[in-house]
Amino acid sequence: MDFSLYKVILDHLYDGVYFVDNDRRILYWNPSAEKLTGYSSEDIMGSYCFNNKLNHTTNEGILLCNNRMCPLAKTLKDGSLREAELYLQHKNGHRVPVSVRISPIRNENNEIIGAVEIFSDNSCKSHLQEQVAQLKELSLMDSLTRLGNRRYAEIELLTKMDEMRRLSRTFFGVLFADIDYFKRVNDRYGHDIGDEVIKMVAKTIQNGLGDFGTAFRWGGEEFLAIINTSIKEQLYEIAERVRALTEQSAFQLGNDEIRVTISVGASQAQLSDTDEILVKRVDELLYLSKNLGRNRVMIA
Ligand code: GH3
Ligand code: MG
Ligand code: MG
Repeated sequence: MDFSLYKVILDHLYDGVYFVDNDRRILYWNPSAEKLTGYSSEDIMGSYCFNNKLNHTTNEGILLCNNRMCPLAKTLKDGSLREAELYLQHKNGHRVPVSVRISPIRNENNEIIGAVEIFSDNSCKSHLQEQVAQLKELSLMDSLTRLGNRRYAEIELLTKMDEMRRLSRTFFGVLFADIDYFKRVNDRYGHDIGDEVIKMVAKTIQNGLGDFGTAFRWGGEEFLAIINTSIKEQLYEIAERVRALTEQSAFQLGNDEIRVTISVGASQAQLSDTDEILVKRVDELLYLSKNLGRNRVMIA
């Protein structure tokens, strides 16, 4: 079998592709994998998937590589095909949602000699880019994080409130998040690196919300998110996912790794709410989670 022909094909695939041997050592890393993760093949080749930098987590933010839950390891063991929706860690620190497919690789004696993972971005980029262009035009976008700014959040809240009253039922909730001990990041690493960490958290929050909602930069290192759900348990689940994914994000600075956590207040909108009352409620819940020790979600 002539691998060079296959390599040409794999090198041009839109999806990220990599191979591991039975020890889960990475032997091939295509250019799309590079684009999706920020890591070049030099960064990755020869490293082991369980101690490399991708730190795959489930949608709940649970780290797979340390938990004997690694789907690649399972496929190497049982030879089954696997598909999963996961998050990986980009070189810049933020979390990226990916769809992953894994197949075993067998030799001519049908023995498993490795596995191939094919992964693609799940974050609906084109839709997002379209939105960003529009937001820019209306100066409702925050230029650092590329999220909507506070003004945009307020407009969206009012629109949702109107719709809720028209329908006479609640169908959305709000999260309010603030980075814990952020002054320490600025003090230790400087304001510019602080900005990079804010960007990382912003991306992780938006990616954690997925299709359920939209995040806005409310102020310095504070984010507000509007979540489309009428179910309180689901609102909590989403808030908790965003919290856990932030905890699992890491900004790489030379040999240093900057990690931060967020405290979150969450509440469903009530028919009797005004936008001010709703924001005040999640703000108070946020400060309650700060007082209870930070890195947690408090829900009304
Ligand atoms: P706490 O856990 O109580 O939230 O502690 P904290 O240190 O995060 O305190 P607080 O939220 O009150 O302060 C946030 C700090 O974030 C204050 C400010 O210097 C910094 N900050 C605000 N906006 C920006 C920004 O755009 N870039 C950077 N680098 N820092 C910012
Ligand atoms: Mg803070
Ligand atoms: Mg703050």
